[in-house]
Amino acid sequence: MAISNIQIPSLLKKKEVTDDKVVFRVRREAVSCVNCGSDDHDVVHHFDQEYYNHDKFETYSWDGGVPLDLTIVKCKGCETVFQSPRFCEESLHYLYPNHPLPEKLSYKRQMQNHKFHFLIDMIREHGTKSLHEKTAVDLGTRYGVLPELLANEGYRAMGVEMNLKCVKIANQAGFEHVHQGTIADIDRLTKQQGMDRVNLVTMVDIVEHLLDPRRDFELISRHQQSGDQIFISTMDVESLGHKIFGKNWYFLHAQHTYYFSEKMLGDLLDKFGYDIQYVHRIAKFKNLSILPKELKKHNALRAPGNSERTNSKRWFAEYRPSLFDYINIVAVKR
Ligand SMILES: [Zn+2]
Repeated sequence: MAISNIQIPSLLKKKEVTDDKVVFRVRREAVSCVNCGSDDHDVVHHFDQEYYNHDKFETYSWDGGVPLDLTIVKCKGCETVFQSPRFCEESLHYLYPNHPLPEKLSYKRQMQNHKFHFLIDMIREHGTKSLHEKTAVDLGTRYGVLPELLANEGYRAMGVEMNLKCVKIANQAGFEHVHQGTIADIDRLTKQQGMDRVNLVTMVDIVEHLLDPRRDFELISRHQQSGDQIFISTMDVESLGHKIFGKNWYFLHAQHTYYFSEKMLGDLLDKFGYDIQYVHRIAKFKNLSILPKELKKHNALRAPGNSERTNSKRWFAEYRPSLFDYINIVAVKR
């Protein structure tokens, strides 16, 4: 997954929180709302320090094993939900440890087992048809499976991945469209590839990880023109799952800096000239079908006297419940 590595924007308050631990020196800071600039907010969830055991962070790297508290707030001005204080850019590497990356990758296996069937169908159905050329950039591409699929759909496609190790093993396995960088490098990378204009930007499981989505959408918008599109896939903070499971909701963790809803994404995208063209959610009856199983997990997490179990990171990770809480959004530039 890629993370914006741009400079700290003026919106960020300079108040700095430094957490000194025996092993970690992590810099965090209080942040203002990226959408409206307000620094007035309510706390939605607070997790005390060491809200779970960190010994196995190679497997569950949500918090990088950093023993810090976590606070999720909601802007009083516009209802954007975000993490504050949150990690400064130079401390982000604590959140994204390099493992568990395989030493070697099988191109065939990656292409056979990919999770993008739904997205490709959505692009076939909702992609702008009237364009001469079709160029695509997948942000936070990991091994570059999606650009490979987009190339099969007729796009000149490029994937951008922050993690250099990911890029290297992907290139070795035969994924040709993957380049190292972040959204801040989109200028350089598109020039390198001779892409004057990006018709399609895909952002799968990435907007919730950004440090400054406002700046990132601004950068993206400079490379798009009328009719060009952004496909976004992210968890929905207004979803039924979050409403039912609250603080135990699977998606609440330190790597997630923003928690969007359709309205919040629409507000933000509108600032850069985009309209939401199509929104997809999983049907309610499918949520109901998994609800009993997820409620059981939820109740186990809430059960009194189970501190021994919640201290086991594996148990805790596996018992955090969710429904099909994703939204897939297609935005088109006016
Ligand atoms: Zn706001």
